[in-house]
Amino acid sequence: MSSLFNKILEKENLNKEDLICLLNAKDNDRKLLFEKSAEIKQKYVGNKVYFRGLIEYSNICYKNCLYCGIRAGNKDLIHYTLSDEEVINAAKFAFENNYGSVVLQSGEIESSAFTEKIDKLIWEIKKLSDSKLGLTLSLGEQSEETYKQWFKSGAHRYLLRIETSNQELYSKIHPHNSKHSFEKRLVALNTLKRLGFQAGTGVMIGLPFQTIENLAEDLLFMKEFDIDMCGMGPYIEHKQTPLYEFRDKLLPLNERFDLSLKMIAVLRIVMKDINIASTTALQAIDPIGREKAIKIGANIIMPNITPGNNRDNYLLYENKPCTDEEVEDCKTCLEARLHFAGAEIGYGEWGDSKHFANKKD
Ligand code: SAH
Ligand code: SF4
Repeated sequence: MSSLFNKILEKENLNKEDLICLLNAKDNDRKLLFEKSAEIKQKYVGNKVYFRGLIEYSNICYKNCLYCGIRAGNKDLIHYTLSDEEVINAAKFAFENNYGSVVLQSGEIESSAFTEKIDKLIWEIKKLSDSKLGLTLSLGEQSEETYKQWFKSGAHRYLLRIETSNQELYSKIHPHNSKHSFEKRLVALNTLKRLGFQAGTGVMIGLPFQTIENLAEDLLFMKEFDIDMCGMGPYIEHKQTPLYEFRDKLLPLNERFDLSLKMIAVLRIVMKDINIASTTALQAIDPIGREKAIKIGANIIMPNITPGNNRDNYLLYENKPCTDEEVEDCKTCLEARLHFAGAEIGYGEWGDSKHFANKKD
């Protein structure tokens, strides 16, 4: 079987059946897949891993995604929003420690007050770093005007996961109303791209009702949309969410983890020069999960730099790691782990998507 598998690995354009075959790889084929993706990573994006200090700005969200722990309907949540000073201090920490970039992430709020507040924070972050800190936003669906304003103020990357590219599955994991429309999400992604952001998307892996075919289609979606960056990771159930009801339908955690690694590896083969994040949810399942993903294709890590006392309240899913640690601990332990994984840290560099630059050339 391995020679057929090798043929697929050498193909220029992979179709859905090929992708399904790669995602189903076992034993020696699985090893071949990871060797190939690691080789492509080295060749096209190199050995460097770039840091994006993650600031979880607020757990207040107007939406009600059926999988998410900070959904509006979770009444057990203690709400918080970081003060300007807390955000600025976190960004200062990132700058002083040569992290290169920060990501501002939050529950989704659409209001002019929110737009202005974020705008002010973008300016402050640019000011404190003399425009040297790169800035990614992950603040959900917003109007074109809002995106435009934030881009003009200095944010240059945006992460908005499609969650699943299958509309039917999308409707199973979201409420059915205009706030949670698949079309709107697509429009938002297209707008971000058109405005000039480096656009990132991603999916959750191992969702209830999700098939391998769905995941293969997700990879084709990313290729067709021509994304610059990807952040994807395992779905992890959360007790205080409606989707918890379907926990018996889930793959065991270790299989969800393995499938996530394979998704990263196959995406690296399909989109050779994009930035791929090794997401925190991988670490929630395996203590060295992120490092494993770095070895086989990912090149971005998002160390959490949210002030410690708020991290417990930004639980998108259960078992979120490092919620009880201080920022410094995370930095030190990450350094050691990445060194162990044989990667070099691109300190002080933006590490922008090569794909984005190559498209422009
Ligand atoms: N509100 C913004 C950003 C915060 S949520 C948005 O939705 O885009 C960031 C990501 O967390 C989501 O895109 C989703 O993919 C992920 N997430 C939420 N709940 C999760 C869960 N239970 N397991 C794994 N990932 C989850
Ligand atoms: Fe809100 Fe994002 Fe969670 Fe959906 S995934 S409930 S938009 S924070």
